[in-house]
Amino acid sequence: MDGGLMRELGIDMEEIRRRMAFVGFLERDVRLLSEMEGLIHEHADRLVEAFYQHLLSFEETRAFLKDQSTIERLMASQRKYLLSIFQGNFDGAYFEGRLRIGAVHHRIGLPPRWYIGAYCLYENYLSPLIAEAYRGEPDGGLARIMALSKVFRLDMALAMDFDHHRMITLLEQTIRERDEFTHVVAHDLKEPLRGVEAFSSFLLEDYATHLDEQGKRYLSFLKESAVHMKDLIDDLLTLASLSQKGPNIQKVDLNQVLTQVQHDIEYSIKQKGAEIRVLSPLPVVLSDPIWIGEIFKNLLSNAIKFNASTFPRVEIGVQEESLYLFSIKDNGIGIHPDHIDHIFLPFKRLHSREEYEGTGVGLAICKKVIENLGGRIWAESRQGVGSTFFFTLPKKLD
Ligand code: ADP
Repeated sequence: MDGGLMRELGIDMEEIRRRMAFVGFLERDVRLLSEMEGLIHEHADRLVEAFYQHLLSFEETRAFLKDQSTIERLMASQRKYLLSIFQGNFDGAYFEGRLRIGAVHHRIGLPPRWYIGAYCLYENYLSPLIAEAYRGEPDGGLARIMALSKVFRLDMALAMDFDHHRMITLLEQTIRERDEFTHVVAHDLKEPLRGVEAFSSFLLEDYATHLDEQGKRYLSFLKESAVHMKDLIDDLLTLASLSQKGPNIQKVDLNQVLTQVQHDIEYSIKQKGAEIRVLSPLPVVLSDPIWIGEIFKNLLSNAIKFNASTFPRVEIGVQEESLYLFSIKDNGIGIHPDHIDHIFLPFKRLHSREEYEGTGVGLAICKKVIENLGGRIWAESRQGVGSTFFFTLPKKLD
């Protein structure tokens, strides 16, 4: 039966079998190792003793081997591990033990290089021993050394999986906490801002006659700044809320999504006289209808907004292979190659608000949404010619 750590990391025996197949650890290897049980048994005490002498000669590992009883306990468990490799029982309990190596080292703060080094040490001891024992049969010796090396790689990878898993969990938790903090701060900032916006409106409406033109202009700037700051905070709230709630996955007909988006941005389409062409019918995908709508809305409004052509044209395409690849191509102003990767960062804008209005968060939201849906987004562009934004969506969700 799988143990607690295997369950926590989502590793079952099926996964282990796939890993074994990938490193080429086959039945034959198990048999070759089992044939050496007697040989290893004979040398186990000496090998473990040498192993611990080596650990004691390094300050970092010596720090954990303070008293004799700890050393004896650890030596007994090392001996058991060493022998278990040659007993042919590569079962759940064996692999749970390998994950535990990672867990223990993680807990005491010894990074993976130390246990990787320890596995290396065992290879250094065991390989010459096997080569010597099979001197008359070099191919057999080599096959046994290779079998052992495959086991050590499987075992090392499992120990490292624990660190990897903990790092991902920690990272996710840090991102969640950061977003919660952003959410609270952004929310609190909105309150006084509402006051600034409301009272500058009251002043403009009710006290305009008391102000000269300069005064009215200053007040208008003040109100505009408050509105802009509110837009920034709203975008920040949207960005922060994305990691707090997961997607609401369902079947989504993207043709319907596109019709709705075109309706939402109808004003800018008409104002610019833009033409939107869908090159082939869009698929029905498994996704979050609101999130996917946001992606299309952001990309289409940008394609129209950052467009100085007499006839702004946007082409939407899709290719279906192992995943969906969407493209949104415009004949707009284009993006300088030096900036193409930066535009997906929050608040990164290449123009002033006087030239093109916006907060600079739209593409950061698209990136986060698409990555949360298991896809990727990128852009290709030529200044003065136009840009194409590509994004992928998986066909099946894990
Ligand atoms: P916003 O539209 O609010 O400025 P975005 O995050 O959507 O913010 O875009 C970031 C920046 O990327 C824009 O300010 C613009 O400089 C550039 N950009 C985005 N889409 C296009 C496009 N289709 N063509 C040219 N530049 C673009």
